Amino acid sequence: MEKIQMTTPLVELDGDEMTRVLWQQIKDELLAPYIDLKTEYYDLGLPHREETKDQVTVDAANAIKRYGVGVKCATITPNAQRVEEYKLSRMWKSPNGTIRAILDGTVFRAPIMVEGISPVVKNWKKPITIARHAYGDVYKATEYRVPGPGKAELVFTDESGKETFRETVYDFECPGVLQGMYNKDSSIASFARACFQYALNTRQDLWFSAKDTISKQYDHTFKDIFQDIFDAEYKTRFDELGLTYFYTLIDDAVARVVRSEGGFIWACKNYDGDVMSDMVSTAFGSLAMMTSVLVSPEGNFEYEAAHGTVTRHYYRYLKGEETSTNPVATLFAWTGALAKRGELDGLDGLTRFARALERAALDTIRAGVMTKDLAGLWEGAAPARAVNSLDFLRAVREKLEASL
Ligand code: NAP
Ligand code: MG
Repeated sequence: MEKIQMTTPLVELDGDEMTRVLWQQIKDELLAPYIDLKTEYYDLGLPHREETKDQVTVDAANAIKRYGVGVKCATITPNAQRVEEYKLSRMWKSPNGTIRAILDGTVFRAPIMVEGISPVVKNWKKPITIARHAYGDVYKATEYRVPGPGKAELVFTDESGKETFRETVYDFECPGVLQGMYNKDSSIASFARACFQYALNTRQDLWFSAKDTISKQYDHTFKDIFQDIFDAEYKTRFDELGLTYFYTLIDDAVARVVRSEGGFIWACKNYDGDVMSDMVSTAFGSLAMMTSVLVSPEGNFEYEAAHGTVTRHYYRYLKGEETSTNPVATLFAWTGALAKRGELDGLDGLTRFARALERAALDTIRAGVMTKDLAGLWEGAAPARAVNSLDFLRAVREKLEASL
């Protein structure tokens, strides 16, 4: 078979530990033999971030802006222990945080479903995608402990120095806690557009939830911006495709989500998205089967697995022990990115190959061949055979060959 040609490079962001090992295996076994892989390679492995003083992360994000599509391996976010372990000169920031700040995107997380691995919620038949607004709110809040009695106020001084608002938050009669948080109309608007656009691209309904009954200014602003942008820019296209957008209170959304059969996008404010995405991914079965894509308002895409670098497995791998780390979410990051590249460049063959590779991976699991994490959850008809990562990828390759 002749290799599939690419026209525009895919921005490739390599990473750390176990996922870096899987990254190479996926390329060697399932991509390079079939595609004339054209990538612009950035090594975001922690040693190279240290060498470049983290410039490589900024360069990679800018490359995604240039080319439109990137695929990222999981990376270590350094903490004190990592500074020691990797002899770092600084505690470099989270690469995902840096990339998000440059691309200004929204993160969509969706589970990969396969018969035999049942969601805990029995009526979930289709994936539920969570769109998390990854900017502001409690993540950028200012807070402190209040030492004792006194008055807490919320003050706004405009550019010219004029005090325009002063509201009492609370007259403290005893010690307590205090927090001030914010968001920006521009960020909320790009969050809304990313959600509407993603709903159109994936042909799914969009739900948005907040707590506007209690938060009459803050959350209500989110609700209003979503509705105004929907009416002005997206309603016609939603109607044409028979898609729905609606807003509902977060309490009502939670109840509806649990009773639903899935197949929609649930847009959440930053904190709600943080918490709900962990709840939803656990309920779908496994963090190792969760994909994540960052979509920017200008239409740039960055695909990755939702899980981390699987450190515990890596330490075993370094000792020469056999590891059975699940490569499916990392593989789907590649197929998602290749399919998008194919779509943008009009390369049907590339998109078709990516979809065939996804089917081969799911067919392998359906046939009972899977990594250890899934074998523990397996309820399928075929008996489960737990294999190591490389044997799993080779089994996928056999299925792929049979389908080509
Ligand atoms: P993790 O790498 O997601 O792993 C947590 C545990 O989940 C693993 O120990 C493993 O459980 C299970 N697991 C996750 N992915 C799996 C897979 N593909 N196959 C099988 N089991 C899997 O999270 P972490 O241990 O908290 O973080 C490790 C490093 O990753 C940290 O340095 C963190 O900064 C980084 N991280 C990066 C990203 C990212 O780049 N997007 C996201 C999160 C964390 P068992 O050990 O029980 O088998
Ligand atoms: Mg979380």
